[in-house]
Amino acid sequence: MVFLTAVLAAPPVDTSHSADVDQTGAEALVSQEPTGSAYTLALTRLDDRVAAVEAATVTLVGHPLVDTTKVASRTLFRPDLVDATAAPVTSGLTAEQLPDRVQGARQQVASGDVAEATRVVEGVETDVLLVALDLGDQSAQNAAMTRLLVSADPQVALLDAAVGATHAAAEVRDVVAAATSAVQARDAAAGITVAAQQIAVTGDEASKAAVAKVEQQARSTDGYTNGAIPLKVLCVVAFAPSQHLRCDAAEALARLNAAYRVDFGHDLKISGSYRTLDEQISTRAAKGTMAAVPGTSNHGWGLAIDLDQANGYRSAQYAWLKANAMTYGWHHPVYMDEGGRGPHEPWHWEFGTSDDSSTGTSVPITVGVPAPTTPPPTSPVPPVVEQPAVAPVEPAPTPSATPTPSSTPTASTEPPAP
Ligand SMILES: [Zn+2]
Repeated sequence: MVFLTAVLAAPPVDTSHSADVDQTGAEALVSQEPTGSAYTLALTRLDDRVAAVEAATVTLVGHPLVDTTKVASRTLFRPDLVDATAAPVTSGLTAEQLPDRVQGARQQVASGDVAEATRVVEGVETDVLLVALDLGDQSAQNAAMTRLLVSADPQVALLDAAVGATHAAAEVRDVVAAATSAVQARDAAAGITVAAQQIAVTGDEASKAAVAKVEQQARSTDGYTNGAIPLKVLCVVAFAPSQHLRCDAAEALARLNAAYRVDFGHDLKISGSYRTLDEQISTRAAKGTMAAVPGTSNHGWGLAIDLDQANGYRSAQYAWLKANAMTYGWHHPVYMDEGGRGPHEPWHWEFGTSDDSSTGTSVPITVGVPAPTTPPPTSPVPPVVEQPAVAPVEPAPTPSATPTPSSTPTASTEPPAP
């Protein structure tokens, strides 16, 4: 997403990447010859650009607006628990809102104000690119856990290619290509999810067992609250025995580390993983807003690690993880990316979470249960000052054999910082 930041941070009239629009020239023409042939040509070019954005919009909108990949990932392997009321994508700007934006741009192009039309078209292009990138990234994230089981599925390669093409197209502001590849990424992600579900039904016994194991691991912390998971419920990270994570996260991290070690010759150095509520309170006290509100950190679910990492965003390690971690279900939250709203923590990586563009945070992808919701007013996050000095090692909540959705880990709208 680093380059996306660069794309979006570009001055509104900097279209040096774009071969078919010379907006700087068009603006200059306004004060010279507003009715001349050059002016007409600039208008035509702008209109062509609007048409391209419109075509991209059709590509994005010409598919179901409900993010089917997100719904599927919520109900991974549990078609009996499909959440029919799952909310549609609620990013700041959704695909369904794009047509109005495009139409508005077209009207302003037609009004003859080239300078204003230039700015409007630029803005719409950015919006289309944002939606396309959001689709591509979310598809990849939501498929990340499933793909662990179906790495041989040809859709996995298609997903990788489509997400990469989305980003590459955005980098050169090709909105049509970005939209097209984003749709391909979403469809591929849906295919991966279906493949995993089919394995659970028709696969050989070994495959079925693998699916069942992943489901069991993903649900192993159901019934506990953030930061109150007994260590015995979690798993030790094989190459870092002092660290604990949810078992599927620990196993995926071991696979990720094995690939990392091939390229770097040493293990990943982990400085933090599961964090109890007390530890979250201590971290908050020490780091302030750089740390998550206690009770909301993804560390409290055993789904986040911090790396002992030098050079941050500029490090070879960060670049490698950005390119490879998602293959193993790990990713860097978009809001922590360089240029994201922050906090900016290149060392913080998460497993089994999905970027939530509606809140600008990341939340756990729940498996087989409804998606996390905002805590009801009657059960607020415990105030820091009321916490006991030492939390019980193995707190009271004992998950039943079949945890109910109401006892599902609940995501807050507070930024789940490290
Ligand atoms: Zn962290």
